[in-house]
Amino acid sequence: MVIGDFVERKIRGLTIRIDRSLCISTGNCMKVAPEVFEFDEENICASKESPPDIEEEQLIDACTVCPVDALIVIDGHGKQLVP
Ligand code: SF4
Repeated sequence: MVIGDFVERKIRGLTIRIDRSLCISTGNCMKVAPEVFEFDEENICASKESPPDIEEEQLIDACTVCPVDALIVIDGHGKQLVP
């Protein structure tokens, strides 16, 4: 789902939101979770189309390593886990 500069998708019961306006293209998230994140044609973080096979902990780690807090994780109860 795309909402303005945000791209949102649900993975393993977690909502992952990418704030494309903040991403500075370091690639950190992709190093930790290449199953989920990739660069789009503008070299901004995007979510891969294919349904990822990834553990929740690895997914949260991948979002935590973003240096500009462009990756937001919200659990099934609406609690924000990252950043
Ligand atoms: S870690 Fe953050 S800044 Fe780096 S590519 Fe991923 S979303 Fe963009």
